Amino acid sequence: MKTTNPAEWKGILVVGEINNCRVQPVTLELIGKARELKASCPAVGDTAVVLIGSGLESAAAEVASSGVDEAILVDHAETALFNNDLYAAVLQELITARKPSVVLFPATARMQDLASMLGIRVDTGVAAHCVDVRINEKAEILAVVPAFGGKVLGDILCPGHRPQMATVKPGVFRASLAETASKAKVTAFDAAVVLQAKKKTSRLLALDNSVCAMPAGIPVEAAPVVVCGGWGMGSRENWQLLEELAALLGGAVGCTRPAVDEGWVEGESRMIGTSGKIVRPKVYIGAALSGSSHHVCGMKDSGLIISINSDEKAPIFEVSDIRVVGDAKQILSGLIEKIRRIRSGK
Ligand SMILES: Cc1cc2nc3c(=O)[nH]c(=O)nc-3n(C[C@H](O)[C@H](O)[C@H](O)COP(=O)(O)OP(=O)(O)OC[C@H]3O[C@@H](n4cnc5c(N)ncnc54)[C@H](O)[C@@H]3O)c2cc1C
Repeated sequence: MKTTNPAEWKGILVVGEINNCRVQPVTLELIGKARELKASCPAVGDTAVVLIGSGLESAAAEVASSGVDEAILVDHAETALFNNDLYAAVLQELITARKPSVVLFPATARMQDLASMLGIRVDTGVAAHCVDVRINEKAEILAVVPAFGGKVLGDILCPGHRPQMATVKPGVFRASLAETASKAKVTAFDAAVVLQAKKKTSRLLALDNSVCAMPAGIPVEAAPVVVCGGWGMGSRENWQLLEELAALLGGAVGCTRPAVDEGWVEGESRMIGTSGKIVRPKVYIGAALSGSSHHVCGMKDSGLIISINSDEKAPIFEVSDIRVVGDAKQILSGLIEKIRRIRSGK
C-alpha cells in the first residue's frame, strides 16, 4: 500500500444510498455526521454527497436541502441499477478527480460491498461497522469500532493514506436537518468514459429482489415497541412468549446474535446491535439477554428500557430504566396473562 500526502486531500464525501430513486434515511444520517465533523474541524473541508443512479432529480432536491455543501450526481441510464463493479469504477474516478479526505458509506449490504471493493482500488483502508466517527485537530478521522467481542471500543486511524473510509449502519446517527434555507450546489459528474470502458466487461441485466424479501410484520427498526429476546430464552417454545407479547403490544420481536444462531429467529433482519439493526422504539423490553456492548449499541437510545434477567448483575441493567430480576419465561407468561385479562375486562 503506497502512502499519500494528506495535505492534497480535502473534504468529506458521503456515498448516498438510493432505492427506487428515493434517498434512504441513512444518507441523511451520514450527511448529518459529515456536517458535524466539519463543524468540529473546519480544516477538513466542505461536505459533499454523491448520488449514483438514473433520473435523480427528486433525490437531488432532497439532499440539496439537507445542509450538505454539494450534491454530486452521477446520472446515467447505465447506472440505473446497482452494480458493484460499475459503481466502484465510477467512485474511483470521482475520488481520483476530487481527492476527498474522508469518504463515508452506509453499512448496508450493497454499500459495504462497494466500500471494500473501492478500498482496494484506491489503495486505502476501510473501517467497517463504525459506531461513531470523530475527528482530531489534524483533520484525521477516528473511526470507532467495537473490538474483543464488544468488550472495548477501539479507534481506527488511517494517518498515512487517503481517503479515510468508514462504513456506518443505518440508525447510528441522527438525520441531517438544515438550519438554513440555503441549498447545496448541485454538480453533475460525467462518468461516460468509465461507463463506456466498463460496458465491455460488466453489464447488469436485471435485479432479483425476491431473495431479500422482508419478513412479515413491522420491521424491528420501525416498531414503537420492541420485545427482544436473548439466549436465556432457552428454546423455540419459550420464544413464542416474545411473539405473543409483541403482538399484544403492537410491536415487533427483536433478538440477539445467539437467538439467530439457535434458529429461533430466521435470518438477521431482526437482530439488534452492531451487526444488526439500530432501534429507537418508545419502549424496549429485553428478556434473557445479558447486554453485551454489541447489542447495547443497537438499542441504548430507546425511550423506556425494561429488562428481565435472572442475574441481578447482568450488564443490561446498567442501561435499563426498569429492572426485573427473575425467570423470563415466568415473567413474560404472567405479563401476557395479565394484559389479556385486562383487555377482556375480567
Ligand atoms: C463482531 C461481533 C459482532 C456482534 N454483533 C452482535 C449484534 O449485532 N447483536 C448481538 O446481539 N450480538 C452481537 N454479537 C454477539 C455479542 O457479543 C454477544 O455474544 C451476544 O449479544 C450475547 O447474546 P445474549 O445476551 O442473548 O446471550 P448471553 O450473553 O449468553 O446472555 C444470556 C442472558 O440470559 C440470562 N438468562 C439466562 N436464563 C434466563 C432466564 N431463564 N430468565 C432470565 N434471564 C436468563 C443470563 O443471566 C444472561 O444474562 C457480536 C459479536 C461479535 C464478535
